[in-house]
Amino acid sequence: MSGNQNTISFHDGKSAPQTGLGVWQVEDDIAASVVTTALEIGYRSIDTAAIYGNEPGVGKGIAQSGIARDELFITTKLWNDRHGHDLSKAALNESLEKLGLDYVDLYLIHWPAPAQGLFVQAWEGLIQLRDEGLAKSIGVSNFTIDHLQRLLDETGVLPVVNQIELHPNFQQQALREFHAEHDIVTEAWSPLGHGQLFQDPTLAGIAHKHGCTVAQVMLRWHIQSGHMVIPKSVHADRLAENFRILEQPLDADDMATIASLDQADGRSGPDPETFFLLK
Ligand code: NAD
Repeated sequence: MSGNQNTISFHDGKSAPQTGLGVWQVEDDIAASVVTTALEIGYRSIDTAAIYGNEPGVGKGIAQSGIARDELFITTKLWNDRHGHDLSKAALNESLEKLGLDYVDLYLIHWPAPAQGLFVQAWEGLIQLRDEGLAKSIGVSNFTIDHLQRLLDETGVLPVVNQIELHPNFQQQALREFHAEHDIVTEAWSPLGHGQLFQDPTLAGIAHKHGCTVAQVMLRWHIQSGHMVIPKSVHADRLAENFRILEQPLDADDMATIASLDQADGRSGPDPETFFLLK
């Protein structure tokens, strides 16, 4: 097994590493050392968000690494209380200051928060931020087909990425088909099922067959399906395990078996249609 150096192309001409590090629930005071460790292992993509409260630590880890900025791919996200043109610009500037960066590679609207009715205005704000060069690429997270369609109808601009909950128990087939039809990259959050799937006997059987771990089976499934993945860990051994890619592909039987694990109610996080938290 070797490190995943695959890249994924966006419809705006940019590209991103397929495997990155997710840092939700990584405390700010350890974020720098976790990021440093991940970068030493070979990760070049980090996924944070304003609401995670760890942009300063992530920025410190990036600075300490000494890795050239153009070799890194840094994502952060706009929180629900900053939807709107001017608010989104102020929010990104705050994130950039905390990260110690001049630009991010990818800026995402974190949730559509449809009850608020402002995600189209937020998207117009992100288009402007991209045009100003503060975000190289722009995307969304937790958007449904209806939300994506509204962005297209009202602005004519589609996100390069939709970052959604996605793992063997919650496969979001219809949304992924919409992404494929519109050249939107699917990025999987909680790609390991937020740690809930390690005891799954079916996944354990596939791992046994390939002589790898359950985490590596799930990540191979994502990679083979063309998703970007951002597994989270703070432990060096797991960071390394998650970055290594199983060289032998999962076979058609493995893929069909994993497809059968999909559950209509397999969601572990909130429902984007109703989620609307301000703080
Ligand atoms: P995950 O699926 O990455 O699972 C993380 C859990 O699995 C942790 O408990 C970790 O300790 C454990 N783990 C990781 N690697 C392991 C290994 N090799 N062996 C055993 N245990 C292992 O869950 P996540 O943190 O929810 O999601 C990953 C990232 O996705 C987040 O850090 C964040 O960046 C992003 N995310 C985004 C949203 C969003 O709304 N856009 C929501 C949730 C998460």
